[in-house]
Amino acid sequence: MPPPVFRFAPSPNGHLHLGHAYSALLNFDRAQETGGRLLLRIEDIDATRCRPEFEAAIYEDLAWLGIKWETPVRRQSEHLACYRAALDKLSALGLVYPAFESRAEIARLVATREADGPWPRDPDGAPLYPGNAKSLPYDERSRLIESGLPYALRLDMAAACRRVSGLSWNELGEGPAGERGLVTARPEAWGDVILARKETPTSYHLSVVVDDALQRVTEIVRGQDLFYASSVHRLLQTLLDLPEPAYRHHALILGVDGRKLSKSDRATGLRELRVAGRTPAGIRTSVGLG
Ligand code: GLU
Repeated sequence: MPPPVFRFAPSPNGHLHLGHAYSALLNFDRAQETGGRLLLRIEDIDATRCRPEFEAAIYEDLAWLGIKWETPVRRQSEHLACYRAALDKLSALGLVYPAFESRAEIARLVATREADGPWPRDPDGAPLYPGNAKSLPYDERSRLIESGLPYALRLDMAAACRRVSGLSWNELGEGPAGERGLVTARPEAWGDVILARKETPTSYHLSVVVDDALQRVTEIVRGQDLFYASSVHRLLQTLLDLPEPAYRHHALILGVDGRKLSKSDRATGLRELRVAGRTPAGIRTSVGLG
């Protein structure tokens, strides 16, 4: 049996905080315990928010924590062709359509629909796509594309769900509501998710699924904030004929106010803690891995 493969996959859009330290250390410890490999992946597809200095800081902070990872590190921005190929495969299955509404138009549409009662939200609390781009006639679609109007490519969730059934995953950790073991995937709860945008020719969901498969990741250790997204990931893996990894979602480290940590909160930033004299062993203790 090849050794298990783990990955830590931060986005270089800010400095790492205690929550990232916990996730990275859990991955590192799992790799050590199992004789597995630890990969580091830089999720930098959002060119407007990701910066080279944050990437450099990620390497520095992880090395300071005593974490070792394999090189070369995969940077998503260097592999856009891989995501394009996956998108083409989904398009060939007739599961992708262009949607032309701007973010502001979507917000307006949701507000209009909410006049008749609450509009459904995804597990992250964002309104489901309210538009009707899926049913635009072919000619109209071509006309809008030719006019140069920007568009997002969305997954036709209803059609995608008709192609697969009985989706689930093996949860080795725990979901926010205590879910563990065999968890039923409910991708329909996310509606017609975005697979690519004009300025970012892929999306988090698409690139994470493609990369986890290309890098042969066998156990995905990440925060519970991504637990429900696993439903979309299992759907895309199945549609794209990719292998199924196991998942181990962990509890999030919360701030003193009980809220999720933010990259902009200096009190829990690893660099700030380091400058304040905290040691890597001290960080381990404060995230409960002492
Ligand atoms: N890049 C994501 C983040 O920084 C994590 C992706 C994942 O672990 O699946 O939140």
